[in-house]
Parts: sequence; C-alpha cells; structure tokens
Amino acid sequence: MAGNWKMYKTPDETRDFFEEFRPLVAETEGRDIVICPPFVNLPAATASARGTGIHIGAQNLHWAKEGAFTGEISGPMIRATGATHVIIGHSERRQYFGETDEGVLKKTIAALEAGLTPIVCVGERLEHREAGLMETVLCEQCAQGILGLDPQQFAHLVIAYEPVWAIGTGRTATPEIAAEAHGVIRREVRARYGPDAGARVRILYGGSVTPQNVQALMAEKDIDGVLVGGKSLDPASFGAIVNF
Ligand code: PEP
Repeated sequence: MAGNWKMYKTPDETRDFFEEFRPLVAETEGRDIVICPPFVNLPAATASARGTGIHIGAQNLHWAKEGAFTGEISGPMIRATGATHVIIGHSERRQYFGETDEGVLKKTIAALEAGLTPIVCVGERLEHREAGLMETVLCEQCAQGILGLDPQQFAHLVIAYEPVWAIGTGRTATPEIAAEAHGVIRREVRARYGPDAGARVRILYGGSVTPQNVQALMAEKDIDGVLVGGKSLDPASFGAIVNF
C-alpha cells in the first residue's frame, strides 16, 4: 500500500501526518506500507516512521551516483536518508518532465544499485485506450523500461499500473479494466522471466484510489496493492485504504 504525496507538505506537515497516521496502522498486519514524500521531507519521514515498519520512498532519482547534474538527487543520497523505495517513471514525470522508457530503465538500475526498491510506473493515456492501444503501449513500456533488467535485478522490482486518464481525475479504472491491464503486464513478465517471476512480481494499481473503491480493486487476483496519490495526503483516508 503505497502513498505518493507528489509536491505536497513541508517537513513540519510531514511530522504532523505521522503523528496521526502511526496509531492508525499500529495493529495492521500483512500489509507493506510505503509513503513517498518530496525529497526535502525524507529525513523527517524516516525519523517519524522509525520503529513502525512503515517504509519511506522518494518520488524520483537521477541515474548517476553523483556528478555535475544541478538540481538532481542520486540513489545513494536517497538511501542515506533511510528511505528504502523510489517511484520511477510516474506519468507526471513522463508527461511534464520528458521522462522516457530508456531513462526509466537507467533509473531503475541506479535505484537497485543503491539498494532501493524501485516502484516502476507504466500506463496508457486516454487517447491510447480509446484507440485500442492499451496493450501495445503497456508492452512497449515494459519491454523498453523494465524487461531489460537481468532476472536477479527484476526480483526486487515493484510495478505500478497507472492509467494516465485515472490519475488525479477522480476517474478510477473499474476493477475489471485494471485487472485486464495487470494481466497483460504479468503475461509479459512471465514471458521474459518465467512463471515464478510472473506469479511473484507485485503489481500495484494507481489512479484515484479511495477508501470506497480500494476493496473492489484489491479483490482482483492480479492486483497486489495500490499506489495512492491524493488520498494518501490525509492520515485518515490513507489509513482507511491501508486497513480496507
Ligand atoms: C499517483 O499520484 O500515483 C496517483 C495515482 O494519484 P491519484 O491517486 O490522486 O489519482
């Protein structure tokens, strides 16, 4: 159950969130929880989550370990804050910051080398879906951005299916639509890495997940978890999603 805070909250607001959120998940069992705040909040988040089992992740990284890349943050820097995960290839990064599948693969390898668990996002845009190209786009994104990893690297990856038309729009994919896309991704993984990897890989659904729709989504056998944007900002709503 992963939360993506996007560009919201300050360090003080991060600490306030955890004050409220921690008790809500203190008894939660059998759920892995990851919260991904903006970079500047990683130290506050890791300090607030210490001893709780809640994991902290970043929302992006640069593929180099260090260098003359003004304004960028590397995997080792993220890891040094105590964060353990990183979102890669979010559709907002692809759409507004020109991220490509090639860059996604480089960043994924960099994350793994830094000891971070990458949560790699794929998903079609509305015009792709309307043109019947959902499967083509997902296969292409997987082939270029994920399936170039060697099997050992792949074993540490989490995939998030995030149809672009469902992100931040209030328009959730129906459980059937999401499950169909997850089935396509799992099939591609199986074809490349074998049946065990296909069964084991975690595929999260993201796109307007709420406390009201999480149960129906999670009832689909191919949906292993959710990546939540807007509704992860409020402790009560994210707590309700985690404990659905
Ligand atoms: C996201 O940011 O990954 C996301 C799915 O956002 P939202 O839940 O707000 O649609």
